[in-house]
Parts: sequence; C-alpha cells; structure tokens
Amino acid sequence: MNHIEECQFVHSSFYYPIKGGSQFLADRLSAGLKIIYNKEIFRITRCESKWLVEGMEFDRVIFSGNIKYLPSLLAGATNLYGFIKSIDELESHGTTSVFCKIDKNPFSWMYLPDKKYDAHRIICTGNFSNSNNSSGIMTGTVEFTDYISKDEILENLSRMPYNPRYIIHNYEKYTYPIQKADTRGMIKELKNILEPLGFYLLGRFAEWEYYNMDVAIGASMDLMNEKILS
Ligand SMILES: Cc1cc2nc3c(=O)[nH]c(=O)nc-3n(C[C@H](O)[C@H](O)[C@H](O)COP(=O)(O)OP(=O)(O)OC[C@H]3O[C@@H](n4cnc5c(N)ncnc54)[C@H](O)[C@@H]3O)c2cc1C
Repeated sequence: MNHIEECQFVHSSFYYPIKGGSQFLADRLSAGLKIIYNKEIFRITRCESKWLVEGMEFDRVIFSGNIKYLPSLLAGATNLYGFIKSIDELESHGTTSVFCKIDKNPFSWMYLPDKKYDAHRIICTGNFSNSNNSSGIMTGTVEFTDYISKDEILENLSRMPYNPRYIIHNYEKYTYPIQKADTRGMIKELKNILEPLGFYLLGRFAEWEYYNMDVAIGASMDLMNEKILS
C-alpha cells in the first residue's frame, strides 16, 4: 500500500526439498515415531489424572485439530460451557483448490489481485523442484476463496494466464482462520484451563492462528521446550 518493497516476507527466500515437496519435511520429522494414521478421533474422556483418546490412555494430549469440534470431543471430560458461544462465533474462510496442467512459466506463486479473476493465486511447485512435475508435464494449483462449483471453475480457468487445464479439485471448509481483536485472549483463557490438565492446543485451527507451515512447526517446538519438557 505504501509502496514499500518486500523485505522479509515469508515467500521472499526459502529452502525447498529437491524430492518429495513439503511432505519430505514431515517424513523427516516423523522418522522413528510411532504414528497411527487415518484414525479419526471422536471422543476424548478423562479417567482420574489420565486422558482416554478413543479408549487409549495418555498422560498428555496435544490437540492440533479444529477447536470448533473441541466442546463435543471433550463432552463430559471437562466443562467448556463458558467458551461454547465464543468458539461458535469464530470465523474462517474455506478454499477450493484446483489441480491443473499448466503451460510452462517461470513463477512459483502467481498472485492475481484483479477483479476479473475469482481465483486469488496459482502455485506451480514444479518451479521449485522438477520432481514435482510428472514426466515433463508442468502442473499448478489454482486457489479460489470459499466454495465454487465445477462449472464456475472451468469458466474461470478458460480466462486465466498460462492456460490451466482442469485435472481434479477439492473444497475444504476450514482453511483460513479469521482472527478478531478478542480471539487470542479467548484462546489464552481456554489454554489456562486445559493446560494444567495436560491438554494443549497447538496449530492453525486449534489456536485460530494464521500459521504458515514453518510457524506451525516452530510453535510445536516452542510448546515442547517451554511447556512439555520443562
Ligand atoms: C490453501 C492453503 C495454502 C497454504 N499454503 C501454504 C504455503 O504455501 N506455505 C506454508 O508454509 N503454509 C501454507 N499453508 C498453511 C499450512 O497448510 C498450515 O500452516 C499447516 O498445515 C498448519 O499445520 P497444523 O498442524 O496446524 O494443521 P493441519 O495441517 O490442518 O493439521 C491438522 C490435522 O489434524 C487432523 N484432524 C483434525 N481433527 C481430527 C480428528 N478429530 N481426528 C483425527 N485427526 C483430526 C486433520 O485431518 C489434519 O491432518 C496453506 C494452507 C492452506 C489452507
């Protein structure tokens, strides 16, 4: 707005894995850990000083899901009645992500601040690492804020730069938390109640913080060092 050149913006410089994209980092960090994948948690209860997560007993729980589901997940375990209205009122945006073939171009992120496009950006991770492309085919992800139908997607793609061709799309309801003046205070109060019980909120929708991956990982390291290990 004030014509100040980007200096330390999050995308100005970064390291990127040659193979495997950002999943490479997750794989490295999780190496040697016992992780149960593809298991949805519906119920967390309290038994004396322990937490029971779907019947399995734990001393501590680090909750990185969506805080909107916390009151029902913890129903009976602890009383969050005073927070239900504030949690209910938390706002967010969703995203429709469209995976496409796209013409060769030199850009990683293309931002589209133009009313003629409904999409706000195109990400071509194949320009970070060629191994992200399939045998010489350049791909890109076109992002639209909130829900948009397939017909509208196709119409938009036909007008966009570098000729994106539709492969598949996905709509996700919770992608961008909207923080209000009192959000951090409310989350802090909630943490003050849960943490003495060994229950920690961590992550973009658990803390309703606009975390990028590096900051989310940093927050988990801080939690470990400042609260779990100390
Ligand atoms: C469209 C989009 C583009 C982005 N682009 C970038 C980018 O270019 N660079 C960047 O650094 N960051 C980017 N981000 C941000 C990045 O994705 C987040 O910072 C990061 O994923 C946050 O990690 P998290 O662990 O807090 O949450 P998540 O990654 O959302 O992890 C939470 C996990 O909990 C699981 N879960 C929730 N409830 C339950 C339950 N009841 N039972 C079992 N599992 C459950 C979810 O399935 C999910 O896997 C982007 C985000 C979006 C939405």
